Amino acid sequence: MDTQTVHKEDLNLFTNARLQFERALTWIDDIKVGLIDYLINPKRTIHVRFPIHMDDGSIKTFHGFRVLHNRVRGPGKGGIRYHPNVTAAEVTALAAFMTWKTAVVDLPFGGGKGGVVCNPKELSRGELRRITRRFVTELGDAIGPHTDIPAPDVYTDQQTMAWIYDTFDMMHPGENNLAVVTGKPLEIGGSVGRNEATARGSLYATEQLLKRGVVPGLDTLDGARVAVQGYGNAGSIAARLFHEVGARIVAVSDSRGAICCDDGLDPDTVLAHKNETGSVVGYPGATAISNEELLVYDCDVLIPAALECQIRADNADDVKAKLIVEDANGPLTIAADNILQEKGTVVLPDIVANAGGVVVSYFEWVQNLENQQWDLEKVERRLRKKMNRAVDETVDCWNELTAKHETGLNGAETGPTLRDAALVTAIKRLATVILQRDIWP
Ligand code: NAD
Repeated sequence: MDTQTVHKEDLNLFTNARLQFERALTWIDDIKVGLIDYLINPKRTIHVRFPIHMDDGSIKTFHGFRVLHNRVRGPGKGGIRYHPNVTAAEVTALAAFMTWKTAVVDLPFGGGKGGVVCNPKELSRGELRRITRRFVTELGDAIGPHTDIPAPDVYTDQQTMAWIYDTFDMMHPGENNLAVVTGKPLEIGGSVGRNEATARGSLYATEQLLKRGVVPGLDTLDGARVAVQGYGNAGSIAARLFHEVGARIVAVSDSRGAICCDDGLDPDTVLAHKNETGSVVGYPGATAISNEELLVYDCDVLIPAALECQIRADNADDVKAKLIVEDANGPLTIAADNILQEKGTVVLPDIVANAGGVVVSYFEWVQNLENQQWDLEKVERRLRKKMNRAVDETVDCWNELTAKHETGLNGAETGPTLRDAALVTAIKRLATVILQRDIWP
């Protein structure tokens, strides 16, 4: 790929989300044209600015936002991220992914996402608590158990969710407010299995996809060579769970670099090394490689579990994996999608692959509303059922679209991808509900 092409590639996440959506639309011929704008753009974006007393006695103003992308199938659902570079465009794209994800796994939710521009690595616990409490107060009734339900995302965790719940509960005394937020600590209404739900869901989805026989040359994870980008919540747990079913973890990475070992890495001791030293790099017996090399490492399954736009026009052609399982949101650009499709690489798209997190968030919400506590066996059984069904419906749709393509009637140059099929399934579900509810007034 020449440098000009690389420079021309648009890495704005919302642009990529829009292009994915538009590509999927070419496979739907009976959608009401007037709905398209409503289905891609957010319903509402709230911007808030608020001052906080810092520990050194100064006052600093912070900027936060919450995007409610769509709520025709139920209340908005999606995380809140604290990051110095978070933008409204990024959060809007992530909120759109949530709308499509909740539709394709058939949860009674819409899509939302929020963020506060701040650097948690430079903030004290007290400053983070004051930011969270003030942000929730500013959002007021824009969030709630039946309107829009936050969850953890990049650099927010169980503690942040506990502060969100507590603040909302102070604002609405005398009600059961547990369901206002998910990803809470177990002691205040969190669900067992939530912590590893994203990775576990991606394992179940991958197993089901392989059973359906749509990945040429790969029908089992037993003995499969797996590379994982990112060793945080999603990546490190995926490495452990894929290893447990017989896969060989041949390369892993984090923000400081990557390591590989063709004999296989032990995910637990790699995690212990990372916890001790701050990085997977330097793990005894492994060879250091760059993050770029990890993405094109010789493997059967590549799991991007770190950031957006990692596989692009400039490196997609060098990817060796037969299957990419998108644990991260938006790790591939649309150009990468096209290149990989041409190469025959199968991509299990983010809105299916990493949906396990929101599925178990939904279980947490149900338990909170019913004042119940499920056990782990029930959570995992129901998660597997949800993931299997989402994969089956996506593959069935993909088969239908492929048959349609073979007739030559739809005019598309290339056949459908699994992402097209997942989005078609989601968009059709949303359009159906909009028309069943009918447009008010
Ligand atoms: P996390 O913060 O726990 O982990 C992120 C990891 O990525 C860290 O190990 C970090 O060092 C690494 N990383 C950062 N930059 C990197 C780079 N350039 N190269 C390689 N590694 C790099 O975050 P997480 O919760 O695991 O989320 C990771 C991705 O999965 C995000 O895209 C997130 O939106 C998505 N996701 C997470 C969940 C969940 O429940 N945790 C659910 C759905 C989607």
